[in-house]
Amino acid sequence: MTASTNPRDAHPATVESHRRLAEGLDWTDERDFDDARRGFIATVPEAEFEARAGGLAWSMRGHGFLDDPRPDTVNPSLWRMARLNRIHGLFKVTDRIYQVRGFCLANITFVEGDSGLIVIDPLTFDEHARAALDLYSAHRGPRPVRAIVYTHSHRDHYGGVRGVVGAGNTQGIDVIAPAGFTEEAFTETLLAGVPMRRRSLYQFGTTLTAGPRGHVDSGLGKAVGRGTDSFIAPNRVIRQPRERHVIDGIDIEFQLTPGAEAPAEMNLFFPGLRALNLAENACHTMHNLCPLRGAKTRDALAWSRYLDDALHDYVPRVDVVYAQHHWPVWGSERMTEFVAGQRDLYRYLHDQTLRLMSQGLTPTEIGQALLMPSRLSRQWFARGYYGAVVHNVAAIHAHYLGPYDGNPAHLDPHPPQEAARRYLRYMGGADRVVELATRDHEAGDFRWVAEVTQRVIFAEPGHVAARELCADAMEQMGYQAESATWRNAYLLAARELRARGMAPAPASIGISPDVVALLPLERFLELLAIRVNGERAQAIDARLDWQLPDGETQRITLSHGALNHRPGSHGALAQAVIRTPREQLARLLHGPQALLQALDSGELQVEGERNLVRRLAIALDAFEPMFNVVEP
Ligand SMILES: [Zn+2]
Repeated sequence: MTASTNPRDAHPATVESHRRLAEGLDWTDERDFDDARRGFIATVPEAEFEARAGGLAWSMRGHGFLDDPRPDTVNPSLWRMARLNRIHGLFKVTDRIYQVRGFCLANITFVEGDSGLIVIDPLTFDEHARAALDLYSAHRGPRPVRAIVYTHSHRDHYGGVRGVVGAGNTQGIDVIAPAGFTEEAFTETLLAGVPMRRRSLYQFGTTLTAGPRGHVDSGLGKAVGRGTDSFIAPNRVIRQPRERHVIDGIDIEFQLTPGAEAPAEMNLFFPGLRALNLAENACHTMHNLCPLRGAKTRDALAWSRYLDDALHDYVPRVDVVYAQHHWPVWGSERMTEFVAGQRDLYRYLHDQTLRLMSQGLTPTEIGQALLMPSRLSRQWFARGYYGAVVHNVAAIHAHYLGPYDGNPAHLDPHPPQEAARRYLRYMGGADRVVELATRDHEAGDFRWVAEVTQRVIFAEPGHVAARELCADAMEQMGYQAESATWRNAYLLAARELRARGMAPAPASIGISPDVVALLPLERFLELLAIRVNGERAQAIDARLDWQLPDGETQRITLSHGALNHRPGSHGALAQAVIRTPREQLARLLHGPQALLQALDSGELQVEGERNLVRRLAIALDAFEPMFNVVEP
């Protein structure tokens, strides 16, 4: 048998799994399709537009296959969501509120103020936001941007801000964000940025080709897209739990929801326009309590409470509830059903996970035992297109109890390669495992096949039959998955196992110039500190000052392999003073070579013990962003 990198057909067990799932769902309820199309004004063909750097920033063209009948290689419920997320264009939500949907993972909302526009969430990239504003202006006339609102600290809600305000200054424009926005936006994507980007590729399937055996959706929207990212810091921060402001003649009550879908987030109630914007706290999916890319876990209890507050305080006073992903819902009955259902979803997950934890169950056991209430799980908006019950249960457990399941046998497990070698010895060797696993694959036990073939791969990465079989099993799980993020993860794993090597990295680990311009020196030093190789640096004792031309100075102490820093100077005790322009900071993070070059070329000016700085540079690690995931 020769190894092929082509995706396989759906296994009969996959077809059967789809049939069983479809049976429990309410296919007569077509309201989502009506709501997703309601208020449609216009769009651009295939929602296609160019990136500044060349090539396409966004296009729905590759997903045209979604107009065909569903193939056996896609979960029926996910197929339905993938079709909904293919609807794109400019939509009227209610008087003075418009949205462009399907031009990015998220939605952009335009609120018509007395003299111009309030833009809510300018998408991931400048190109996306610009294309959306152009579409709006073409049909509603040009209006100046008076205010920008970031509902929360995730990049698909702010990274395209210069697409709506241009490169010029933002004087006179209110840039409004919830408390903690800038800090969270920076820390979430910077400090753990390298592993997060790699894991994001799995979550979003960014490098998968669109098709019935590849990428179909991202659950919250079609895809991530590409383009130029930017950042403008807020100049008006919402700090109270509720704050009411009149922005360009529009009365808005902001409801802070920290710790819910994002660490810094807020809903917007428009009493005059009788509309409620639930940010990303209520979408037409079960959301994540921890995304597959990784994040600090989210607080399901707080999340449900904020939705309960919104349900009681705002829903009775509005005609429409909309959000920054997916489509709005109109009318009292539908709004109540939606917001109450979303509230119950997170409350139920929270309470039932804690109930089962209190009976001594561990996360894996709870994931299997926890059944969603059938009336709720028949609601399309409660299905897990982005999150999944199993993963959310683990996040709730981690939120309260951390990563350890309480069993001392798991306190100090062997790392995967070491464990795999031992398992194989007990199991009669790699070939024997593959032989047994092949039978289980035929029987459709893909979860088990993936688990045992992973053992073989971690013991013997070159075992072709094990790689093939593991890829086949992961692929069937991808085909079966209702969650788009699970599908993406499984299918990318299958591809990497078959290809024996990584596709080139699509994402750089660079930092946007806008962020470099704003980031405090302290944050850069945190990024430098996580590059210090403890073993190599443990013998270095150093007291350094690091100065920026604007006078910002940090005193650095390196001892025991740990780089500490605090504002101020060591004064006469400093062994060296480093001076560098701000623009160069980001480049210095690329590893020891970049730092050594800057040192040698004089870009990095050092007064005092140059050699000490050199030793520090040599003790830094360079990161390989495309590290292995499904093999050692
Ligand atoms: Zn989002």
